[in-house]
Amino acid sequence: MSKTKAEQLVELKQHFGRRVMDQARLVITSWHDLEEVLWNSTWLDEFTAQVHKLNKLANRHDNERIKELSAFLQQLLADVVPGKIPQSQVIESLSQTVQALADACSRDSDQDSQNRINGRRPVYLCGQSVAQSVNLAEQLNFFGIPIQVISTRQELQQAVLHRIPAAMIVNVDFEQDGIVAVQAAQKALSKPAPVLFQSEKEPNIHTRLAATRAQGVHFHIGQPDVGLLVKQLSAIYSMRPENPYRVLVVDDSRAQSTYAERVLNQAGMITHAINDPLTILEALQHFQPDAILMDMYMPGCTGIELARVLRQQTRYDTLPILYLSAEQDVEKQLDAIGQGGDDFLTKPVPRDVLITTVRNRCLRNRGLKQQMIRDSLTGLLDHINTLEALQQEVNQAEESNNPLTFAMLDIDHFKAVNDTYGHAVGDSVIRSLALYLRQRFRVTDHLGRYGGEEFAIILPNTPPDIAETLLNEVAAGFARIHHETGSKPINVTFSSGLAAWQPGLLGTDLSQAADIALYEAKRQGRNRVCVSGSE
Ligand code: GH3
Ligand code: MG
Ligand code: MG
Repeated sequence: MSKTKAEQLVELKQHFGRRVMDQARLVITSWHDLEEVLWNSTWLDEFTAQVHKLNKLANRHDNERIKELSAFLQQLLADVVPGKIPQSQVIESLSQTVQALADACSRDSDQDSQNRINGRRPVYLCGQSVAQSVNLAEQLNFFGIPIQVISTRQELQQAVLHRIPAAMIVNVDFEQDGIVAVQAAQKALSKPAPVLFQSEKEPNIHTRLAATRAQGVHFHIGQPDVGLLVKQLSAIYSMRPENPYRVLVVDDSRAQSTYAERVLNQAGMITHAINDPLTILEALQHFQPDAILMDMYMPGCTGIELARVLRQQTRYDTLPILYLSAEQDVEKQLDAIGQGGDDFLTKPVPRDVLITTVRNRCLRNRGLKQQMIRDSLTGLLDHINTLEALQQEVNQAEESNNPLTFAMLDIDHFKAVNDTYGHAVGDSVIRSLALYLRQRFRVTDHLGRYGGEEFAIILPNTPPDIAETLLNEVAAGFARIHHETGSKPINVTFSSGLAAWQPGLLGTDLSQAADIALYEAKRQGRNRVCVSGSE
């Protein structure tokens, strides 16, 4: 039977919706390349062309948000002169808009998991048996990963021609030889797709080498752990570009500071320069840099003295300080590093040395900061930082009068999981829940690990009834996941308590109210959501 007109229309709309999203992804990917290409004009032409195409598609298919963002990108790019590096503010605006675009792609349909899945490139799964694959596909779908089960080599070949995959999961024994099948499929792609290989038995060095040459990025031995797969695939999907690094340049010579700024801007970093070293505290406060690039000798004080002043304050004691100076005396250089500096670069410093050194310092520092506020098992905010984020959102709500809901989650009968299957299985359940929550909530929501098997979610701009529906959905989805135990897989549930913010309430009031609601959910039999003050 042929499809009705209405059905055809829906299909067409979905098809074009995907085209807009695919084009948005190209724009984001192209922006990622900036770091490497240093604003060369070929890159700029290409990026501009991708943005124009996105705007055209968004206009034609009426995607309001993408229309608005792509138009803004066009406007920003109109002021960029080829062959000239744009101002710091322009880079910052471009980067923020690309990030908003990434959010729009991955989360615009986060109330609707099917759409969320459709917006992403598929992962092709070539397992040893179809039954096993279907089971794994179902598990991965819960995490928002669109899996397509492939059963023959021809089917794989067809699939890659039809839609470029984000990745492939391939058993080495797929159709006699999974690696050969992958090699053939990669030939059909203009850019090879990353592959997660899987093998029943420990592979030898030849198999490992062949897998690596076929673009294998991970090798799973035995039944793959769903949590681990999700983590690896999330890294492949991770489209949200990092915030650009921010560097404070301190140099009494305007010519010198401008030169340093230009070089760093060229690599996509955001800079702010001060020529009076005594204004550094204000500059730090308002610019919030990831690193400081500092001259050694300045009128009023030396770089070393400034570094020592900063190191006396805990909030700046890990901020990287890089000296850039004409000082050739190695003794003096060592002395500077000994007194609170992290690196010493001698003028004239080659452009790529400056970029690489600054970038590495920023990267390391961000990593450290992340570790300090995040829980090591799940990567979520720890208890204290969750409470801090909650109070900040309460202040925000107080200002804007937007709704705000706080949720507390606690895994049901978790002690029994530990007692029956061991602590390692317990840990992996906790990790799965953290991953699952990350998949299901917006980037603007804050996720925390509140205690051992307790989690907290801060939902800005969300009234309690919406939060309740959302948590019910999330709870139902999580309950369907099979957790590997080494013997029979198990299902685990959680209970949650919600509290809605009202004018005058503090963060601590909200967390108390949510805790009471959580207790009520446990009392009523677990695996349910209770809202504070609604019984
Ligand atoms: P309820 O449904 O009432 O919440 O029952 P429960 O068994 O989950 O509650 P209870 O608070 O009695 O037990 C929680 C257990 O969680 C106790 C503790 O050993 C375990 N736990 C806490 N943190 C971790 C962790 O990081 N890893 C593992 N594996 N277990 C943890
Ligand atoms: Mg508990
Ligand atoms: Mg519990």
